[in-house]
Amino acid sequence: MKSATTFPESLPGIIDSHAHTWDKELHNDHSAVLERSWSAGLSAIIEVGVDLKTSRQAAELADQDPRIHAVAGLHPHEAKHLGTQKAELEQLVADGDFVAVGEIGLDFFRNFSSTEEQERAFSWQLELALEHSLPVVIHSREADDATYEILKAWASQVGRYLPRTKQGDERPIGMLHCFSGDSALAQRYLELGFLISIPGTVTYPSKGTNKNRGQDVAQSIPLTGMLLETDCPYLTPVPHRGYRNEPALVVETARFVAQLRGEQPEIVANVTADNARVLFDITTT
Ligand SMILES: [Zn+2]
Repeated sequence: MKSATTFPESLPGIIDSHAHTWDKELHNDHSAVLERSWSAGLSAIIEVGVDLKTSRQAAELADQDPRIHAVAGLHPHEAKHLGTQKAELEQLVADGDFVAVGEIGLDFFRNFSSTEEQERAFSWQLELALEHSLPVVIHSREADDATYEILKAWASQVGRYLPRTKQGDERPIGMLHCFSGDSALAQRYLELGFLISIPGTVTYPSKGTNKNRGQDVAQSIPLTGMLLETDCPYLTPVPHRGYRNEPALVVETARFVAQLRGEQPEIVANVTADNARVLFDITTT
């Protein structure tokens, strides 16, 4: 994938709540990618692993820059590796400085791991998060009902809030990364204590009579329940489609959401960054 050729004007303080800059697509010019992120005004990047190896890579990136924070977990695609990675993953989370467990969940679109493998890995990692009082980063694709039922049961164990260990009192219990459900489901997740994360796909035009559901969600949920993310290197927002995604482009998503809602981009950037700081229990400068 080619790098975007133009970059948006900065929105100071904004946070990319879900990135995979460890991905090989972003390897060759990784330091330039980070430089562009800081120039675009980002105050933090949440770097998310999908298995043992990439969770370690996320932790290494976080070690190198205080503005990067790592999340460790086994993605539903990788759930079949639970048996071989479980012990080390458990150790990694216990010893490391991770801000959440993720991304974890269910993906019945690709089914790279069986339903049973996915559910087993998901449930075990929800327990792991609870044990360490960490929020969870959820991936759910074509699995709305199953994911919601599992999270509802988990939320009843956790309660509406998790304690914060570094500052403040309490925080949400997790985030729905790249949320793809409708606004009614978003509302039900907010009630359980989760935040809803809006990716670059919100900028994509509706096809025919198919309205872009993400736009409904971004319009209807309160800003206090929203996060913004790139999920880079994929899901590049308009007007950079066809190019590689990277954290700097989260600014385009913020500007688009602001326009949808009739709010100032600075407000959207600030409130969603505040939400991320509380969820992940991080400070930024
Ligand atoms: Zn992701």
